Amino acid sequence: MIARSKMADWIERLPAVRGRYAIDVDLSRTVWFRAGGRADVVYRPADIDDLAHFLATRPAEVPVTVVGLGSNVLVRDGGVEGVVIRLRQGFRDTSIRWEGERALVDVGAGALDMNVARYCRDQGVDGLAFLSGIPGTVGGALRMNAGAYGYEMADVLVEAKALDGGGALHVLTPDEMGFSYRHSAVPEDWIFVSAVLAGRRGEPATIARHMEEINAQREASQPIRARTGGSTFTNPAGHSAWELIDEAGCRGLTRGGAQISEQHCNFIVNAGGATASDIEGLGEEVRRRVEEKTGLSLQWEIRRIGRHGRWPQDGGEKAE
Ligand SMILES: Cc1cc2nc3c(=O)[nH]c(=O)nc-3n(C[C@H](O)[C@H](O)[C@H](O)COP(=O)(O)OP(=O)(O)OC[C@H]3O[C@@H](n4cnc5c(N)ncnc54)[C@H](O)[C@@H]3O)c2cc1C
Repeated sequence: MIARSKMADWIERLPAVRGRYAIDVDLSRTVWFRAGGRADVVYRPADIDDLAHFLATRPAEVPVTVVGLGSNVLVRDGGVEGVVIRLRQGFRDTSIRWEGERALVDVGAGALDMNVARYCRDQGVDGLAFLSGIPGTVGGALRMNAGAYGYEMADVLVEAKALDGGGALHVLTPDEMGFSYRHSAVPEDWIFVSAVLAGRRGEPATIARHMEEINAQREASQPIRARTGGSTFTNPAGHSAWELIDEAGCRGLTRGGAQISEQHCNFIVNAGGATASDIEGLGEEVRRRVEEKTGLSLQWEIRRIGRHGRWPQDGGEKAE
């Protein structure tokens, strides 16, 4: 953790905003793993203009990291330096414009994928039911090119809006997103603020049945009620990460409070009291064993952010 005196110096120079700052926030309470460290500052912008103003006027040396719902993120135990931005109210509006049988769905980047899927179901918009199986925000789904059951964001995106590190607004076509498997090539410091997704006219009852099927499949195959970060590793070309992990004998492997899920061995779960270091260390051990057994090098899909360090840290207010 950076020295309090140095931190206080830049905190005092953060721009006045309409949104909310919170200082020394325990991120482990709000990310899916329920593990890891604190953020020096969490900023919840009021809206796009507020966020753009913040980005344009913040002290240049302050690092900025955006976290959505934290369903694909591991916050290291030493916490995240600088300002963690979280898009909430002001970034959740969802509405639909019809062009004949085609629906254009305007969504804020802070909207939950599940809520977008439900809203579209109720409005008779088909083609976005896959979002009901992704437990994050639209912003996280854009960054990760999230997908399931044969669809991914690249298939449904019409355009995305993002603010760059200096607060300038960019409108991106799907080509400009540079999508590949669980990845977008948009610069890491750009923050998605909204998107337009395409759907088509459908029957709410049929879409609802499809969503129920998706949920039943997920219940059966993934530890969706566990403290986890989703798929730990991307699938190497021509292979399933979980099969390689199983082959290397890692199903059920533990380290501290972290465990390779018995149900789906590409998921690490916090079985109780895991530190981020337990989770990351277990992932690295799995990588080592898989490489030894198969010669293939697994790549992390989970985004690891922040500093290595001790846990728990002292002091600070708990509430975000
Ligand atoms: C039980 C479980 C099941 C899952 N199943 C699936 C699945 O089937 N398919 C799938 O693809 N994923 C799955 N995931 C992973 C995860 O839900 C997705 O990657 C999701 O899109 C992440 O969204 P998030 O809002 O939680 O992002 P976070 O996890 O908070 O962040 C992920 C990355 O996105 C960046 N990010 C977040 N918001 C923004 C923004 N507004 N602008 C720019 N960058 C941003 C972060 O900086 C980080 O690099 C699963 C996760 C869990 C826990």
